Amino acid sequence: STVRLDGVSMTQEDGSYRGMLFHLQDVTDIRRLERMRSEFVANVSHELKTPLAAVKGFAETLLGGVSDEKTSRSFLQIIYDESERLNRLIRDILELSKIESKRSAMEYSPIHLSTFFESMFEFMKPYADKKRIQLKMEVPEELFIEGDEDKLRQIFTNLLSNAVSYSQEGGRVQLTAEEMQEGDNLRFTVKDSGIGIPKKDLPRIFERFYRVDKARSRVSGGTGLGLSIVKHLVELHQGSIKVESEPGMGSSFIIEMPLLQEG
Ligand code: ADP
Repeated sequence: STVRLDGVSMTQEDGSYRGMLFHLQDVTDIRRLERMRSEFVANVSHELKTPLAAVKGFAETLLGGVSDEKTSRSFLQIIYDESERLNRLIRDILELSKIESKRSAMEYSPIHLSTFFESMFEFMKPYADKKRIQLKMEVPEELFIEGDEDKLRQIFTNLLSNAVSYSQEGGRVQLTAEEMQEGDNLRFTVKDSGIGIPKKDLPRIFERFYRVDKARSRVSGGTGLGLSIVKHLVELHQGSIKVESEPGMGSSFIIEMPLLQEG
C-alpha cells in the first residue's frame, strides 16, 4: 500500500503557532488506476501499430512498382483488410472509453425478449450459415426486461459472434433466457459447442486485449475488446457475467441481471 503524507502548519488568528495538520491518504488505488491507464495506452498503441505497419509496408511495395496484376490485387486486399481491422479497433476502443468514463447514459425501455432475439438471430444467421452452425433459442414468449436496447444488442451480438467464431463447422449455438426462482432476475446463457477455453485463461478473458490464441482471434477479425465491453455493459445493467468452459467441449457465457432497473 502506498501512502501520501501532507502537512501544513496552522496558526492562530493573532499569528502565533497553533499546530500542524496532517493529511494521510492511501494512494494505492490511485496509483493502480494510473498504472492501468498507462498499460492500456501502451496496449492500444501496440494494437494499432501492427495493422498500420502492414498498410504502410504493402502500400510502399505497390508504389515501388509490382509487375503482375495478381500480386498487386492481393496486396490491395491486405491493405483493405488491415484498414478494416483498424476501423474495428478504433470503434471498440472509443466504445470502451465511453463506457468506462460513464459518459454512456442508460436509456431504459421495456424489451420483449423473444422479438428482440429473433431480430438478432436474423442478423447473425448469414454468419452462422457460412459455417453451417445451427442457431437455436429458447426464450419464453412472455418474458420482458427493462434494459437499454442498444447496449443489450451489443452484449448479445458480441457473445453470439464469438460463439460462432470459436466453433467448428457444423457446430451448435444456443441462447437461453429464463426467469430465476425469485422472479426478479433473469438468466441468459449463450452456449456453444466450440473449441472451449483452457482453465488457466478463464479468469483473464474479460480483460482488455486478452486472447487465448492471438492468431485465431486475428483471423476471426476480433479486437480482443469484445468481452470487456460485454462485461461493462452487463454491469451497467446491475448484472454479472461468468463463463464455464472446457477445451474441446464448448463454452457457456452466463449473464444474470434484474428484470427491472431501480430508480
Ligand atoms: P476477440 O475479439 O479476440 O474475440 P473477446 O474479448 O471477444 O476478443 O474474447 C477474448 C478471448 O476469449 C478470445 O480471443 C478467445 O480466445 C476467447 N473466447 C471468447 N469467446 C469464446 C468462445 N465462445 N469460445 C472459445 N473462446 C472464446
